[in-house]
Amino acid sequence: MSSSTTKETGTTTKPTARNAPATTAGESLLTTTDAVNARPGAPVLAIVVPCFNEELVIGDTTRRLVEVLQKLSAAGRVDAGSFVYLVDDGSRDRTWAVIEDLHGRDGRVKGLKLARNVGTQNALLAGLLGVKEHADCVVTIDADLQQDEAVIETFLEKYAGGAHIVYGVRRGRGDSYLKKATSGFFYNLMRLMGARIIKHHSEYRLVSRKAIDAIAEYREYNLFLRGIFVDIGYKSEIVPFTVRRRGAGKSKHDFRKLASLALDGITSFSIVPLRLVTVAGMLVFLFSVLMTLFYLYHKIKGHTPPGWAGTIIPIYFLGGVQIMFLGIVGEYIGKIYQETKARPRYIKDTELF
Ligand code: UDP
Ligand code: MG
Repeated sequence: MSSSTTKETGTTTKPTARNAPATTAGESLLTTTDAVNARPGAPVLAIVVPCFNEELVIGDTTRRLVEVLQKLSAAGRVDAGSFVYLVDDGSRDRTWAVIEDLHGRDGRVKGLKLARNVGTQNALLAGLLGVKEHADCVVTIDADLQQDEAVIETFLEKYAGGAHIVYGVRRGRGDSYLKKATSGFFYNLMRLMGARIIKHHSEYRLVSRKAIDAIAEYREYNLFLRGIFVDIGYKSEIVPFTVRRRGAGKSKHDFRKLASLALDGITSFSIVPLRLVTVAGMLVFLFSVLMTLFYLYHKIKGHTPPGWAGTIIPIYFLGGVQIMFLGIVGEYIGKIYQETKARPRYIKDTELF
């Protein structure tokens, strides 16, 4: 890895304004629209990488990302001041020590240490907001580099063409069958429940500074980035990429983390489950009315009503249904409880910039 490359930064013009190009009197009218992101000079690109117990892969990953930056900057696609931003999401291994070492050897590697593990979503948010003032556009990518980093070039083309959000979507994946099945299940469940997400897109994407400014307006505690970027509504593009297998270490997303992510995805974007409760409640009510009529009919006709079944079954049935629905309502109340407390979504510990 080459060292002391930060000196290049001084020679390039730092961006001044937000994503909308700065206009001076006499400049073409076209630059006042934000349809095109292009602006004099190449954009400063930040690559944000959330890292949770990634000591095994983070060194290699960073080396490859810096290589990408170097290539892009040599081709004039990004500013020489572009950098990698490693967010340590409360790792319990040597991840932070590795990040400090990488930063010491190459100024293009920056780091942020969070006080504790807050999950990928919040770690990503910390990264996005952390680099907002220093970059024109940001790519988020996993520490295991399962996503093909070469596609960043295509992301940048779309960005130059005016896209504020560029979604990387998987073209098949090298994951295990179980992983594919569980993520497929959660994905379909979320779609079914009305959460708006892009098919086969995870957290590999490019966002402009303007899009991050918009994200900063979403103050919800239970943040579901994949859905929120769609929710913003800025011009977006989709770029396919092939998924690799994880180089070293285990997946940090176990079933529990995936399930909680899916639940957040559903409950923060959809009230379909609450509506289902209402509809199901009405159906059950209707069913018991019919049952009552049925037994009344038999009573009038003089038949002996089948007492046990007619009493016990509805009790169990209704009891079960009620408890289940209380659970769903409780899920939303839990969310409201968390939101009203409005606690910080992450706490910064140390930053290496
Ligand atoms: N990650 C994180 N915090 C967590 C769990 C995961 O920052 O609590 C990071 C992890 O280091 C990696 C990314 O999220 O950079 C994706 O995780 P992983 O590759 O383990 O999950 P998978 O690819 O199986 O979804
Ligand atoms: Mg992975």
